[in-house]
Amino acid sequence: MKKQYLNFDDLEQFDQEFFINDSWCNYCDEADLGIIEPKIYILDEKQYLEGNCKVCCKKQTTEIVVTYLND
Ligand SMILES: [Zn+2]
Repeated sequence: MKKQYLNFDDLEQFDQEFFINDSWCNYCDEADLGIIEPKIYILDEKQYLEGNCKVCCKKQTTEIVVTYLND
């Protein structure tokens, strides 16, 4: 399967800010440092967020788990 990139700017402002701020960096071993140059892509029917850590600038990829509040 090929990565299918989505347009990050098409997301709601709220979601954009959430994805940018609510991050986890494996290199810094810290949460919520923030990312720059965020990208979203779909691979094997899962969504991933890709971006560079604001602190160490290393690339990080996080799987986006969509949760539904009203089941
Ligand atoms: Zn980092």
